[in-house]
Amino acid sequence: MDLAFSAADEAFREEVRGFLDSHLTDDLKRAARRTTTVFADKDVAMRWQAILVEKGWAVPHWPVEHGGTGWTPTQKFIFAQECAKAGAPGLIPLGMRMLAPVLFKYGTPEQKREYLPRILSGEHYWCQGYSEPGSGSDLSSLKTRAVKDGDDYIVNGTKIWTTHAQFADHIFCLVRTNDTGKPQAGITFLLIDMATPGVKVEPIVTIAGDHEVNQVFFDDVRVPQANRVGPENEGWTVAKYLLEFERGGGGAATRLYEGLKELRAIAGQRTAGDGSRLTDGRQFAARIDALEIQLRALEFMELTTLARVSAGGSPGPESSLLKNSSVDIGQGMETLLLEAIDYYGLPHANLISLNGHDDPWPAPDYAETITARYLNGRAASIFGGAKEVQKNIVAKVVLGL
Ligand SMILES: Cc1cc2nc3c(=O)[nH]c(=O)nc-3n(C[C@H](O)[C@H](O)[C@H](O)COP(=O)(O)OP(=O)(O)OC[C@H]3O[C@@H](n4cnc5c(N)ncnc54)[C@H](O)[C@@H]3O)c2cc1C
Repeated sequence: MDLAFSAADEAFREEVRGFLDSHLTDDLKRAARRTTTVFADKDVAMRWQAILVEKGWAVPHWPVEHGGTGWTPTQKFIFAQECAKAGAPGLIPLGMRMLAPVLFKYGTPEQKREYLPRILSGEHYWCQGYSEPGSGSDLSSLKTRAVKDGDDYIVNGTKIWTTHAQFADHIFCLVRTNDTGKPQAGITFLLIDMATPGVKVEPIVTIAGDHEVNQVFFDDVRVPQANRVGPENEGWTVAKYLLEFERGGGGAATRLYEGLKELRAIAGQRTAGDGSRLTDGRQFAARIDALEIQLRALEFMELTTLARVSAGGSPGPESSLLKNSSVDIGQGMETLLLEAIDYYGLPHANLISLNGHDDPWPAPDYAETITARYLNGRAASIFGGAKEVQKNIVAKVVLGL
């Protein structure tokens, strides 16, 4: 297995760096740095998307005839690495990374014509309607129902934790169309226009004070049968295919190395009660080093996965290991950052009263987003497949237990 990059790959890296130098503006970098939620703000992500669309680099993983780049797996990896290193905002994956591959595989020609160009241009903004109250890890127990009526379905039920539903004009949904047999066998995949009468979005504000997730209600919502992706009652196969794309994407280690640099820089400025620097104490420094060791192991795992994919294989169930490992390191880093800034963690203004003062609580700039990032970061071990569920996959498929 060859983990080194070729001269051609290094030349490609230089080309990507040159482009990022000239097109990734300071205000986009600043906005990305200040992002505390899972996804960047819609406005920030769409501005970066428009720049990448113009260059032809927004959807490297799409077929070339639809706007893909035709890059090798290694080039895609290098691109993700360089974007992370340069501090680019993340693109919103819901349409481009999650729904689009499903449409390429299962969509009708009309669905491809209608939706793919609008995902790329940003005219359509999608959200994901899988989870329901009581149906998260146990997704196949979902109850939102679709009943046939002429050429349409009538949809009733609710979806929860729907990221960016407040911005979305479309939602891809799993609905129940049959109750007999195995629960997985009665599920259908539908595309729903959020402007349809009967769709309502209620915000859920998180412990960090952010509005990123929502609950979506469907009350007698009429959806054309033409909006079904794949056959009726075979939505589970479509849903699982989509989840393969929800996980991974590469570049996690690079992003975390940038986080480690920030942690060392902030910890290096902090002093303890007796005036000594935080990083002079062996204990705190050792905890940072332990994270770096985990991070090197993650980087090696990413590169071995890349080598396998480049040789024609697939990421496989090891992607569960990659997810858990990157989440553990990310959460470990957020914990150390919060400890490093100690009382400056309090000015997280959404949560505490400023006692009538208009001025922000005095705190150094570097502390500004740390509490919110720590609180939001707790969600990383839940969404995209909870940590324990990933461990079950590793136990069963990787370890054969
Ligand atoms: C920030 C955020 C954004 C999200 N965005 C979306 C979105 O856009 N669209 C969408 O459809 N969903 C979204 N989700 C929902 C997410 O997919 C679910 O929260 C997740 O699947 C877990 O389901 P649950 O919340 O019902 O928890 P549960 O499944 O009830 O799990 C509760 C706990 O039990 C553990 N557990 C469950 N089953 C097992 C098992 N078999 N063995 C061992 N332990 C188990 C879990 O690991 C967890 O710790 C989002 C969630 C979050 C937090």
